[in-house]
Amino acid sequence: MHPPSLAAKGSPILAMARRAAEERAAGRDIIDLTLGEPDFAPPPHVADAAITMARQPLGYTPANGMPALRVAIRAALARDRGLGYADDEVAVGCGAKQVIFNAFLATLGPGDEVVIPAPYWASYPDMVNICGGKGVVVPCSAEDGFRLKPAALAASITPATRWVIVNAPGNPSGSVYSRRDLEHLAEVFRQQPHVLILSDEIYAHIRYTDGAYESLALVAPDLRSRMLLVDGVSKAYAMTGWRVGWGCGPQALIAQINAIQGQNCTQTSTLSQVAAMAALQGPQSVLVERAAIYRERRDAGIDALSRSPHIDVVTPEGAFYLFPRITLDGDDIAIADRLLDAGVATVPGSAFGSPGHVRLSFATDKATLVEGCRRIVAGLGAPA
Ligand code: PLP
Repeated sequence: MHPPSLAAKGSPILAMARRAAEERAAGRDIIDLTLGEPDFAPPPHVADAAITMARQPLGYTPANGMPALRVAIRAALARDRGLGYADDEVAVGCGAKQVIFNAFLATLGPGDEVVIPAPYWASYPDMVNICGGKGVVVPCSAEDGFRLKPAALAASITPATRWVIVNAPGNPSGSVYSRRDLEHLAEVFRQQPHVLILSDEIYAHIRYTDGAYESLALVAPDLRSRMLLVDGVSKAYAMTGWRVGWGCGPQALIAQINAIQGQNCTQTSTLSQVAAMAALQGPQSVLVERAAIYRERRDAGIDALSRSPHIDVVTPEGAFYLFPRITLDGDDIAIADRLLDAGVATVPGSAFGSPGHVRLSFATDKATLVEGCRRIVAGLGAPA
């Protein structure tokens, strides 16, 4: 393994959340729209299962989780997305984040490149750095709905490319790919057999489009031998703090991920595994109900932001973020500072590789969100 890169900077999202908390502690009225954390409690049957289990002796489990959890994960993927995976094609970790990290640690060496379409989840570049690889950022434009286009993908791949990340619904873009989009990307991947594909589908259940969910694994089953699909309970079931995520992919890669998991923190918490199992196996109506609530908030947020002449916003088709472009002069860090002065905390777009934007999360109640957006509009001021 390689020494960890000292270039890892820590999360800019957490840094902004910390500043918001400090301002609040100093007595200022700040609306915090920084964190991508559902504001719901987990479904009641999840808490019930965990409480019952907490009274029993709790031991270690295998590194890749309790066999019954893996059965539940595989059944959920078959039920919700029509995808079949074998037991030895499933890894379980402390969130999707750890599974991704383990996969990079297992596969990246010095000089290996990871293609990261921007705007990206702020953690990807640091994870790549820490694991000894090199991030190659590919900008995706608002005009293209922040989607990675096949030509840009083809141009970004070199002989040194080890991974390409595809994250849909995207954080912070909210972009979703159609079946046709995915077919076109798959064509490029077929020309590049040395490349591994990370399909980060952690927001799969939070979508505002009609029709079935399109997963690259389903659209291009021939690519599954070099694809890692990651998901977890954090976003769908509002269980960020429970720390359960999984990756499904080829058996050899999964075995490496499991080996790293086992020597790192052994396994994710046994109690959390029981809770995740309850979430996956219990009533699923909560997913549709909450997606409808998020959709209502999204529309209310966009409506409130539309009152500013300095904001262009692409309507997200999934996840729970708005990622408006701010058309005023000045960099996005200065703009986020200005918005904090106006009483609302956002994250500058440069944290996601797309300067000129700010990210706000609508995983907060509608009244707070609308007031936050009102403050953004006021903070940006009247037309010049
Ligand atoms: N992938 C993306 C795109 C995310 O936004 C997040 C969380 O913010 C994760 C993965 C990590 O999720 P988990 O809580 O399962 O580690």
